Amino acid sequence: MALFRFGRKQTPDTPEPTVAAPATGDATPAPVAAPSGGGLLDRLRAGLAKTARVLNTDVRDLFKREGRLVDEEFLEELRATLIRTDMGPAAAEGIVVDVRERLRARVVDPEIVIDSIRRQLLGRLEQTGAAVAAAPTGPTVILVTGVNGSGKTTSIAKLARLFTREGKRVVLGAGDTFRAAAVEQLSMWAARLGAELVRGEPGCDPASVAHRAVARALEGSFDVCIIDTAGRLQTQSNLMQELSKIRRVISKQIPDAPHEVLLVIDATAGQNALSQAKGFKEAAGCTGIVLAKLDGSARGGVIVPVTEQFGLPVKFVGLGETADDLEAFAPERFVAALLEGALAPAG
Ligand code: GDP
Ligand code: MG
Repeated sequence: MALFRFGRKQTPDTPEPTVAAPATGDATPAPVAAPSGGGLLDRLRAGLAKTARVLNTDVRDLFKREGRLVDEEFLEELRATLIRTDMGPAAAEGIVVDVRERLRARVVDPEIVIDSIRRQLLGRLEQTGAAVAAAPTGPTVILVTGVNGSGKTTSIAKLARLFTREGKRVVLGAGDTFRAAAVEQLSMWAARLGAELVRGEPGCDPASVAHRAVARALEGSFDVCIIDTAGRLQTQSNLMQELSKIRRVISKQIPDAPHEVLLVIDATAGQNALSQAKGFKEAAGCTGIVLAKLDGSARGGVIVPVTEQFGLPVKFVGLGETADDLEAFAPERFVAALLEGALAPAG
């Protein structure tokens, strides 16, 4: 299967008009901001600031006492700091073991500790790729799932922005038929982003909307069809079956579709993110993760156990509320942004 790759090149930052949105509560998308001139790494840095603060400030604090020995007390404090980022016990233990071996009974060397963290994170995030599976011919169909409020609709807007920036034509399916506001929210994003929208009557069968969206993508020769779904818990088996039905309907129209089933996880969800990944992978056949709201989370480390435990690659990270706040996930860039400044003098 072909792959879409994003995030390697930066498109020119053309300012665009901000559309005034009517005040309709949670149906109002955040304004489409002109991308800041800072570029990809700045956005990632800003988005990871909270997690980096836990990691860097607290790890740096461990070095404050000059000439401190790497003893069990130091290693325990290091472990506790790492755990606070939600990177999980396995990664934390890996770092502690490595630092213990490299610095046993020696004076703490901050560079070695940071290097150990960097290597451990990179090693554990290595197999994840940002590429999105693409249809060999015809429209690529992406189904977007997740619990309520995780950031599905916003992430769809961000994905649509990525695709349209690449010159692709996008049709969106308003499959969250549960709330009228959800349809309005997607409709507003579609208008703003120059994507077409397929919607149904409030309360109608989401599979019928998905069917019509895919039919429209086929008949109109669209490149990408992204389908929204209502929020649900991984434990609600009837609603998980509804996702299976949507998948079945789509695959009758295009045999290898949906090409991706993305699970949007809120990075502030902590350990809950892990049970969501497990439940949605098993019941909905998710193929990849969008880790949204990293900018609001001090627990960005959760990306480590999420990718490791379930073999679900993190494809994108969400770094804010505008359509531009999405990054294709690249482990090196992620770890670099996270650890940047870690060796600066503790203030
Ligand atoms: P849905 O219920 O899963 O469709 O969630 P929405 O897309 O409606 O998002 C719920 C709220 O989270 C909205 O207020 C969004 O603006 C906000 N949100 C979504 N993604 C992000 C993100 O990456 N960062 C931040 N800070 N907020 C986000
Ligand atoms: Mg939604």
